[in-house]
Amino acid sequence: MVVRHAQVFRDKQGINLLTGHCVEETSPDKQTVTGITADGKGFEFPYDRLMIATGSSAITPKLPGFNLPGVFTLKNLDDGRKIKNFLKKNNIKKAVIIGMGYIALEMCESLVDLNIAVEMVKPNPVFLPWLEPSMAGIIKDGLESKGVGVYAGHAVDRIQTSPDGLQIIGPDLNLTADIVLVGIGVTPCSQVAESAGLELSVAKSIAVDRNLRTSNGNIYAAGDCADAYHVVTGGKTWLPLALRANRAGWAVADNVCNKDVSLDGVAGTSVFRVFDFEVARTGLNLAEAGQAGFEPVGNMIQSRSKAHAHPGSTTIYVNMIGDKKSGRLLGVQMVGTEGVAHRINGPAVALHNRMTVAQYSQTDLAYAPPFGPTWDPTLTAANQLLKRL
Ligand SMILES: Cc1cc2nc3c(=O)[nH]c(=O)nc-3n(C[C@H](O)[C@H](O)[C@H](O)COP(=O)(O)OP(=O)(O)OC[C@H]3O[C@@H](n4cnc5c(N)ncnc54)[C@H](O)[C@@H]3O)c2cc1C
Repeated sequence: MVVRHAQVFRDKQGINLLTGHCVEETSPDKQTVTGITADGKGFEFPYDRLMIATGSSAITPKLPGFNLPGVFTLKNLDDGRKIKNFLKKNNIKKAVIIGMGYIALEMCESLVDLNIAVEMVKPNPVFLPWLEPSMAGIIKDGLESKGVGVYAGHAVDRIQTSPDGLQIIGPDLNLTADIVLVGIGVTPCSQVAESAGLELSVAKSIAVDRNLRTSNGNIYAAGDCADAYHVVTGGKTWLPLALRANRAGWAVADNVCNKDVSLDGVAGTSVFRVFDFEVARTGLNLAEAGQAGFEPVGNMIQSRSKAHAHPGSTTIYVNMIGDKKSGRLLGVQMVGTEGVAHRINGPAVALHNRMTVAQYSQTDLAYAPPFGPTWDPTLTAANQLLKRL
């Protein structure tokens, strides 16, 4: 444990924290967990209440060559150390990244910063499919302007070694690299819950109620392994992100101590940076809103990161989605080189409060020239969307 050492939990909180213990099974009838330690010894612990917080694991395709030396996934600090070590010990000039999600894009930026040539590959031809297409195009152009090769729409069948290094091969693909990073998503670690007969949910995450209780009243689940309610759809979703994981852990602790804590849910608010761009979203995009039964209307506007005449002002793109039937705000996506990351939090709060686009357009948001135009870009987006609702 890095941010907080294991011993601090033991000394300060009196928690019997046992690292190197892998739980293999839980028996809800006996109320025990059993498993094996790092040095091969079995263990069994009884419980009155159990919290499962096993997180998620990186997806690795079951294809030839994905276990070759020089092919890595990035999920935990140990993975990061292995990659760093490999980069240090070898003369790495070329990398291929399989996947184009936020982790893959962040890895891309880090490698380019080390003067490593990067090519990115994924089977879906649409780059950042959750983002409004012209905004996704801006990010893709940004990557290409840094010399990154973007191969969207190319499947990978296998990786093999060749005299030139690692060869990444697909039906219409043949790339070579000194290192391959695989960033194609994560899957919930719900095997212990599944074998205990607990109800599973979206993407095989553990189903929990608003108190984080699983289908067994004595067992709770929190973090990437568990599902959540979506504040816009009201339905279940699986969004493995850090704030929810942290908040859910706190809520379980309160509930176990008989302090009734219920969580509203998630809006899917997220942000990442890739090279010069900040990319953020909250709520639903047009397709997701349609699938959830709304009558969605989207509108994209361009505004500025500072007052128009202020030096250094840059473009901010805001795509806002509303429901034609109810007028409700459903989601916002934003791209820009500054002023995006924290600006997404206004619409996120509005989603938690089930506000309409009209109500959002009346909110009193801060203005001063170095921070934005008089009308915040999200207000301009709301005003323009209102004309189409
Ligand atoms: C590279 C990367 C970048 C990220 N960046 C962001 C970001 O910018 N913003 C954001 O919101 N989120 C980000 N995330 C996601 C965020 O890290 C996760 O949502 C968060 O760590 C989930 O916390 P958790 O406690 O549920 O799971 P984890 O942090 O995965 O912890 C799970 C723990 O359970 C242990 N465990 C698993 N199985 C067993 C078992 N059978 N027995 C005993 N122990 C077990 C694991 O060893 C691990 O210690 C990022 C993730 C990655 C990989």
